[in-house]
Amino acid sequence: MRFERETLPQRVHFAAGEARAAVHAEVERLGGARVMVIAAASEAGLAKAVTADLPVVVHHEEVAMHVPVATAERARAAAARHEADVLVCVGGGSTTGLAKAVALTTGLPIVAVPTTYAGSEATSVWGLTEGSRKTTGVDARVLPRAIVYDATLTLSLPVAMSVASGLNALAHCVDSMWAPRTDPVDQALAGEGIRALAAGLPAVAAEPDGIEGREQMLYGAYLSAVAFSSAGSGLHHKICHVLGGRYELPHAQTHAVVLPYVLAFNASAAPHAERRIAEAFGSVSALDGLQSLRRAVDAPTALRDHGLAESDIDDAVPAILDVAPADNPRPLTPDGVRLLLRAAWEGADPATACSSMT
Ligand code: NAD
Repeated sequence: MRFERETLPQRVHFAAGEARAAVHAEVERLGGARVMVIAAASEAGLAKAVTADLPVVVHHEEVAMHVPVATAERARAAAARHEADVLVCVGGGSTTGLAKAVALTTGLPIVAVPTTYAGSEATSVWGLTEGSRKTTGVDARVLPRAIVYDATLTLSLPVAMSVASGLNALAHCVDSMWAPRTDPVDQALAGEGIRALAAGLPAVAAEPDGIEGREQMLYGAYLSAVAFSSAGSGLHHKICHVLGGRYELPHAQTHAVVLPYVLAFNASAAPHAERRIAEAFGSVSALDGLQSLRRAVDAPTALRDHGLAESDIDDAVPAILDVAPADNPRPLTPDGVRLLLRAAWEGADPATACSSMT
């Protein structure tokens, strides 16, 4: 066994109902005296409650999906104007992403309080968009110094968004099994992440106000992000990145739809990963496990329902082939990628659609 991995330095709290105290402790630990709170308008109520004890100098609510450069510039200007020394972000991946954009140029430390299952809080990946061009990069400065997971803050996330976001986390796990830098530790984390998410998703769908299902989801989301951050982007993430960036599809829903097609496409060429995923689901096959879970939670099924036009398929194929990992378990051809995308666009049965792929 030979591998090298980087373990990212971060303090992590799991503290249902106790975010306020945990965030306070982390801000104190960082010596923060002038806190900038970043939370979208729809997350502001949660943020005000969590940050009530802090020396807040500004509440910044201008958050936009995929972090437009102009939005980042205005947030950086606010941080400078108010002489902030710590950033506290409370919200989904878009909110965390804005805090990262500020940290990227200012070096300010972040305390992240996630309210979805996107997982951005546990990676050192940042993303910015200018027009329809999305740029991402890796920088140690953007990794939040601390994460506070409080499941009570996710109770207001509607079930459909919880399902899509949870499947986004599941996609981090599945893709981590074969991504370019995957190692046995990533695969162990991803397996446990799948187990937790497969338990949490139906629990949240059945009982949206229950804390235990929400806790499992946050635990799974954290594991998924740690695995993904180390393993890197596999085929699934490259496809979703192209779809999100070029056609502005919603992030979580795109991941939720595409995942079974990539799994069906790669499974036979990645038998070790297939076994690990199947075992984590407690299912006869990885795809069966994923599809039973998706049926149980009424997961989104077709990209055409989320803004992809049929005419975008041919345009996306070369863009995906340009960025897809060279060592994807199953070799990629233009016809194979086109069939995969078409199947995901119309919501075809992944097993049948993928068996005809070349
Ligand atoms: P999001 O942050 O855009 O949130 C979706 C919606 O849910 C928003 O309207 C938000 O205000 C609302 N919301 C969030 N929490 C809520 C709650 N508890 N109750 C009610 N409403 C709530 O979407 P997302 O899926 O969390 O994040 C997607 C973004 O994160 C994308 O831009 C993606 O690129 C980025 N991301 C980055 C990384 C990384 O490592 N850098 C990893 C994953 C995702």
